[in-house]
Amino acid sequence: MSLLRRKSSAPVILMYHRVAVERSDPWGLCVSPMHFEEHLDALRRHRRVVSMTELRERLRTGDVAPDTVALTFDDGYVDNLLAAEPLLRQYDVPATVFVASGYTDRGCEFWWDELERVLLAPDDLPSRMTIPLPAGAHVLDLGSSARYPVAVAARHGQWRAYHADPPTARHVAFLATWEQLVTLHDAEQWRALRSLLDVAGLAPAMRPSCRPMTAGEIGALARGGVMEIGAHTLTHPALPALSPAEQEREIRDGAAALASILGEPVRGFSYPHGRFTEDTVRIVRDTGFAYACAGVPSKSAASDPFTLGRIGVPDCDGDRLLAMLTERARVA
Ligand SMILES: [Zn+2]
Repeated sequence: MSLLRRKSSAPVILMYHRVAVERSDPWGLCVSPMHFEEHLDALRRHRRVVSMTELRERLRTGDVAPDTVALTFDDGYVDNLLAAEPLLRQYDVPATVFVASGYTDRGCEFWWDELERVLLAPDDLPSRMTIPLPAGAHVLDLGSSARYPVAVAARHGQWRAYHADPPTARHVAFLATWEQLVTLHDAEQWRALRSLLDVAGLAPAMRPSCRPMTAGEIGALARGGVMEIGAHTLTHPALPALSPAEQEREIRDGAAALASILGEPVRGFSYPHGRFTEDTVRIVRDTGFAYACAGVPSKSAASDPFTLGRIGVPDCDGDRLLAMLTERARVA
């Protein structure tokens, strides 16, 4: 057992998305500011937190100190700058944010948030909606959940996709539509979303709380010196659904857009949706990245630098986070 416990020295890369509180969070992206501060306090006291650049270098030289942890954020939400960065600065903890740069200054939310805004907000919708998709007509049958009062929406605010059965026909439709959209190209995703807005009788909108960062904000974050910027493609596609040439364009152009904002190349990459193929890894390596983060479930970070495993962090308190890391080390 003591030998197993020694495995707790394996480095761990934590995966966050947002430091925020939202009415609904089907993908479990949000960690509240209070919990995030507890995480930083706990990690500062009980773990050795390093930047991804330092971790990559230490993995390369085989010089990883016990209980090393690195923090990462995916996507590039504005709360990374407004809520996460001040706390990271206060606790002197470095982090890396992987930005889907095609959403920068685009004036819309990420496609999965737009879908959530339409279907899971407490607004009444038509009970049956049909939208055209490349594979054919896609029907959203909301049935009796077409009416969705605030109190009902609040009751289902804690629902997490794939962790519990969808509690209403709305959630069934939300998940089925997400599964259709996730492997489409960006243009097809937005064509579908515009059709959905149309049949729902809603206007496009961008909620200030969950918008992507602007180029100016990404620059400000980088200049702050607490957070490193990494790449996350242009439009956040499921890369295995694209041809190798399309994958290359997403990966190269996404990195180039960030380089032009920052005035220097980015070194790290994270695979959208954690999905990749051998082609993807080869393209990322050939593009000149130094490392790439996969999603979860993770192996130890001390593996292939182009498929570094991560642990998704839930909206839990600091003690729970530490217990989770200890437990994970014990079973690793
Ligand atoms: Zn992402």
